[in-house]
Amino acid sequence: MQFQLTDDEAQFASEVETFIEAELPAGYEGPQWEGGPEHQRVAKKFTDKLAKKGWLAPAWPVEYGGLGLSHWKQMLYKEMISYHRAPLGQSGMGVSLVGPTLIVYGTEEQKKEHLGAILRNEEWWAQGFSEPNAGSDLASLQTRATLDGDEFVVNGTKIWTSGAQYASKLFLLARTDPEAPKHRGISFLLTDIKAPGITVQPLVDMTGGKPFNQVFFEDVRIPKQNLVGEYNRGWYVAATLLDFERSGVEWSASSRRLLRDAVAELRSWGAGSALSKPAVRTKLASMAVECEVARWLAYRVTSMQAAGLIPNHEASISKLFGSELTQHLAQTLVEIHGLYGQLRNTSTRVRLHGRPADSYLSTVPLTILAGSSEIQRGIIAGRGLGLPRQ
Ligand SMILES: Cc1cc2nc3c(=O)[nH]c(=O)nc-3n(C[C@H](O)[C@H](O)[C@H](O)COP(=O)(O)OP(=O)(O)OC[C@H]3O[C@@H](n4cnc5c(N)ncnc54)[C@H](O)[C@@H]3O)c2cc1C
Repeated sequence: MQFQLTDDEAQFASEVETFIEAELPAGYEGPQWEGGPEHQRVAKKFTDKLAKKGWLAPAWPVEYGGLGLSHWKQMLYKEMISYHRAPLGQSGMGVSLVGPTLIVYGTEEQKKEHLGAILRNEEWWAQGFSEPNAGSDLASLQTRATLDGDEFVVNGTKIWTSGAQYASKLFLLARTDPEAPKHRGISFLLTDIKAPGITVQPLVDMTGGKPFNQVFFEDVRIPKQNLVGEYNRGWYVAATLLDFERSGVEWSASSRRLLRDAVAELRSWGAGSALSKPAVRTKLASMAVECEVARWLAYRVTSMQAAGLIPNHEASISKLFGSELTQHLAQTLVEIHGLYGQLRNTSTRVRLHGRPADSYLSTVPLTILAGSSEIQRGIIAGRGLGLPRQ
């Protein structure tokens, strides 16, 4: 067991960090969550620079335009991006989800059309999986795609579609055989999000932002060549896709940064302030412990990937612990800041850029998206502890 980066890995992490610090606007704080059109513009500019550097898809194989970096370097890159709150806009969906899926399942035409465009930051993707009646039980989705000559005709509704209002493309799951068992009659399709018949309706969350959307499909025609993988076997394509983003290092990295900023800010309150109270010190120390545990749980997932293993309940543990950490930290900062902890960034009396209150609100969905805490606990109980299914 060796808990140390190689010189090469440490040098890479430092190069990424130097680049991020140089390229982000001075004093850049990043939005808490979606951030609106202005944030999307900053994200586009920054991501264009990453793309020019060739770093947008660090782990893609070289033959597809990536850098072919190791799992460790890929994880370090993500850790730096999250720690510095570097904005990637919607580029992440293409780089982390669609691109790797096309590399495995895509036709030559699909690879040619999309991989280069994703690498140049020209295509921003959104994920159309969840529906009003299909979330944790995704296979019960009802959006229908019916073959009509060389086209699918799609009708239905997707919901919680992150960033769809900024995306140019959408990947979706649709039911192509309603008679088949529910996992077997689903196909994986790609579409222009501006295709006739698609309506994107932003949804407001409790922070006041519009991070996600409801997407309506009314007789949307999708060319047959946009089918990824086999007809009616899209569930298995989607399962591969969901495996691509698994270390969960972003939770610990963003929490470490917030804790560091909070401690620096609390210090500035001076002697006799909150920092001298044993209860406050104890809470902050507990948060430091949770940040480290989350980081090492993510590293464990990466070490399995690097060894050619497929993380399973280990990835669930990392996601569960990391996402719950973000909520514990937000709650701790709200408590420590007292009434200041309730101020949003719009107040002139705000402390810590309003992050206590913003985090308190914006971390709520983190234990729902990408498999809720209950679903993760179910996986850990079943596959980790070997308990019988309920
Ligand atoms: C901020 C945000 C962004 C999102 N972005 C996207 C996106 O871009 N694209 C997309 O397709 N989807 C997206 N989602 C949707 C997300 O995948 C779903 O919200 C998630 O799968 C849960 O589904 P649901 O909301 O329908 O809740 P449900 O599945 O209805 O769950 C409701 C409650 O029941 C619990 N529950 C459900 N099943 C079980 C079970 N078997 N055992 C124990 N408890 C259970 C859940 O944990 C939850 O507490 C996003 C969600 C959020 C919050």
